[in-house]
Amino acid sequence: MKHIEKATSTDDYQRFLATQKELEGLKDQFFELHTLYALTKNLNSCLQTEELFNKTSDLIKDILKAEDFCFMLADENTSELKMWRTSGDAYGAAKDVSFKIGEGISGVVVHTGEPVLLNDVSKDERFLYYKGKILDIGSFLSVPLKLNNNRIIGVLNIQKKETNGFGEYDKKLFVTAAHNIAHTIERARQYEKVQREAMFDHLTTLYTRRFFHEACYRKHGEIERYGRKFSVIIGDIDYFKYFNDIYGHRLGDEILKKLAYLLKSNVRQGDVVCRYGGEEFAIFLPETDKKDAATIAEKLRTLVENNLIVSETCGDKGVRITITFGVSAYPEDGKTVEEVVTTADKFLYIGKEGGRNKVISEPLNNGFDNKSEKRASNRCKTALKIARGINHIYSVEIKVNEENWRICTLRDVSRNGFKGELELETDVPTCNRYLCKVITDSGVEVTNVFSVRIVHAIKIPKNHKRYMVGVEILDKHDSWKRLISTLKY
Ligand code: GH3
Ligand code: MG
Ligand code: MG
Repeated sequence: MKHIEKATSTDDYQRFLATQKELEGLKDQFFELHTLYALTKNLNSCLQTEELFNKTSDLIKDILKAEDFCFMLADENTSELKMWRTSGDAYGAAKDVSFKIGEGISGVVVHTGEPVLLNDVSKDERFLYYKGKILDIGSFLSVPLKLNNNRIIGVLNIQKKETNGFGEYDKKLFVTAAHNIAHTIERARQYEKVQREAMFDHLTTLYTRRFFHEACYRKHGEIERYGRKFSVIIGDIDYFKYFNDIYGHRLGDEILKKLAYLLKSNVRQGDVVCRYGGEEFAIFLPETDKKDAATIAEKLRTLVENNLIVSETCGDKGVRITITFGVSAYPEDGKTVEEVVTTADKFLYIGKEGGRNKVISEPLNNGFDNKSEKRASNRCKTALKIARGINHIYSVEIKVNEENWRICTLRDVSRNGFKGELELETDVPTCNRYLCKVITDSGVEVTNVFSVRIVHAIKIPKNHKRYMVGVEILDKHDSWKRLISTLKY
């Protein structure tokens, strides 16, 4: 009987132990679920990395009871793990430490994607004490920041001064937490990248057109409410297509970057400078009236003319980049941001038509006639027709010296002039008058000679005699008008 009782109590005890173990397991599972819940609940709303780090820190400290931890993230460009955020002062000396992939425990974790737990760091040669910067470490746990697609973006390292500071269960829990955190970090980084791209132009690092408009709308409300003013300057590089055609897009891009820097560094800090389009720039100047804005635009125009000179391929003289600006102001040129910007754009176009490298801030002839707008659209259409070869112009010839007429191969035609390629023996004096005539292949009689001015000439590399020229018709001779009118728009 006694024997049976003893057996029963041993069984009970075994059962009790099993139940205890089960309860412990359930407790662990519950704790794990609780941790995950807390992470998901708190981190899901984080879109900014700073906010994300602060919340993560609190959770790690409060729930996971770790004091010293850091995040190291992999830099895609250098393939190195760099310190991203740390829990506090303990990492002061190690804030610039980085590891190559495979180097140290952190590097190994990123390489293998598996966590590493060191109960006594002194027994593992791979442990580098953050390259000797933090020596006061007994035990160490490094877990991968792994995404669902198994991409590893970095590590979460937790350390304790004493040895045997972590159990296997901690490892499991931190792995789960790090998985969650990795996704939140990635989401925040993607969000910030999209924000950055929407805000800054990739090539010039100026603000984008979208940000420019947002900033204008924001400030416009305030300005309207308090009866204040603002101005807008819009600029467009002159003959930039030629420049690209001749020197290539790479050098063109360099010019855009230099110009952007020039504009940005020569306006006030509160002014919003943006890349408005390909080779167009816009500046929003709060608290600035039109007179001051026009003065600023003139200063910028001169700076560009005197500083953006490409000399490599053109001998000592170099090629000057110039820019035309339109300037408008609130409230006289428009009540809304759109109206003010549209007016600046119209003034810019007048500057283009008037010879380029100019600042225009007032309408010509007291107001806009529709003609200038019409001219603009006609010019584009004409250019298109030229490109397609369906217009009637056979050639334009320019008298380059006493005896010689040279064919100018047309690239574009407008009511005020044309652009084309021309062969010349010497550098072109751009201010001189030249005689010009047009020959058509459609029976249209345009034989009269008229005067032109070469306003712009850029040498074509590897063909030292050929120039890209911009030509303005000086006397608006009937022959040119007639020729233009024969083109069917
Ligand atoms: P205009 O004086 O009338 O403004 O003449 P334009 O040749 O500058 O004008 P157009 O609008 O015909 O050409 C604009 C050119 O700007 C076309 C393109 O080659 C160049 N461009 C636009 N965006 C970029 C860019 O990102 N990089 C480079 N290199 N060129 C660009
Ligand atoms: Mg343009
Ligand atoms: Mg241009």
